[in-house]
Amino acid sequence: MNDSRLNVGLACTAALAGAAVLNHAEVVSLLKDDAGKRIIGARVRDNLTGKEFDTYAKVIVNASGPFCDALRKMADKNAQEMIAPSSGVHIILPDYYSPEGMGLIVPKTKDGRVVFMLPWMGRTIAGTTDSNTSITYLPEPHEDEIQFILDAISDYLNIKVRRTDVLSAWSGIRPLAVDPTAKSTESISRDHVVCEDYPGLVTITGGKWTTYRSMAEDAVNAAIKSGKLTPANGCVTNKLCIVGGEGWELSSFTVLAQQYTRMKSTHGGKVVPGIMDSAAAKHLSHAYGTLAERVAAIAQNENLGKRLAHGYPYLEAEVAYCARNEYCESAIDFIARRTRLAFLETDAAKRALPRVIEILANEHKWDDSRQKKELQKATDFLKTFKSSKNAQFHDGKHN
Ligand SMILES: Cc1cc2nc3c(=O)[nH]c(=O)nc-3n(C[C@H](O)[C@H](O)[C@H](O)COP(=O)(O)OP(=O)(O)OC[C@H]3O[C@@H](n4cnc5c(N)ncnc54)[C@H](O)[C@@H]3O)c2cc1C
Repeated sequence: MNDSRLNVGLACTAALAGAAVLNHAEVVSLLKDDAGKRIIGARVRDNLTGKEFDTYAKVIVNASGPFCDALRKMADKNAQEMIAPSSGVHIILPDYYSPEGMGLIVPKTKDGRVVFMLPWMGRTIAGTTDSNTSITYLPEPHEDEIQFILDAISDYLNIKVRRTDVLSAWSGIRPLAVDPTAKSTESISRDHVVCEDYPGLVTITGGKWTTYRSMAEDAVNAAIKSGKLTPANGCVTNKLCIVGGEGWELSSFTVLAQQYTRMKSTHGGKVVPGIMDSAAAKHLSHAYGTLAERVAAIAQNENLGKRLAHGYPYLEAEVAYCARNEYCESAIDFIARRTRLAFLETDAAKRALPRVIEILANEHKWDDSRQKKELQKATDFLKTFKSSKNAQFHDGKHN
């Protein structure tokens, strides 16, 4: 699954259904009614401009993942914590580490942790789960965690498993949750928890990507109850198609391959046609569904048909499309949150950056100074990914 596409698809589906969607916007405090008894709104900072504003609602849903306790403490500074943060480290290896359509799971490694390996987006993803951690905005994987994964899979493969093959490595924080209103004997849950421990503030956390629709339904039902809302119908998530999904078929990519050309500008300024090969057509179709034709049209009509990174199907046209239609507001948005290039191969993402920034600058009218800032921020962001080139060894440990 390409979870960055699913995530942005959900936001766009909500926008089409009438939601006001804001990214790079951070809740900095919660607003209470005059009696201080109920949450009635939030103060929000637009992190792109630094401007702050207030917004009001009958109910606020706190779905801020590992950060949900920080939000709850804005309502009640003594709120009992409900998140037990747990870090998961993932690494990317070349495709030949995993046969197509086949994965591997080691349910109990030497120290009892699970390790898995799966084909993912043309490469191999391997990872482990569950080390206690603290909550930070950009967690980094430790060298010993990467080595642990390599050691665990090497027992089951008949190829040489090498640190130098690691194309990207990152760490994420899982929000494992305890219900603050439950009896104290309840243990940490991998299921989700919904609670309203301050009137007007419904918190939904825990759970998994794979259960997001059931999480959404429970959160919506809790919000209806809290706000005494009278909706025309119940939660519709169960049957809701995500934007680009209606009418999409596995064979939809053939239309792109047959009907579109990738027009490419050469360094000398000449424009030359290129074929919409199966890899590019399949990628666009899987990433954008039926909207892929719009991306292909940009590649053809605006001479944005070149690949952004050698060996990857991402096209220049996607940067323009994402800036125009998917709230892509920064270079990091594109390499990490609209595509998964940073996660697939850190160096390829780094090489693609100048062109990504050039196209975004054209779309958003960025001046030179903004472009320089974008390059710096994205370069710093990529340093948190520990590909073999980014690895720093000190006495065998990542520093
Ligand atoms: C390494 C790893 C591997 C995983 N693998 C799987 C898997 O294979 N299958 C699966 O189903 N699940 C998997 N998960 C779990 C899944 O990713 C999480 O359950 C899911 O991301 C949680 O979603 P969420 O929306 O609750 O929180 P998040 O995805 O963390 O989203 C919370 C959002 O809130 C925002 N936010 C935080 N504070 C504020 C604030 N003050 N104001 C505004 N916004 C704020 C954050 O920026 C973020 O965008 C994995 C998780 C990790 C870390």
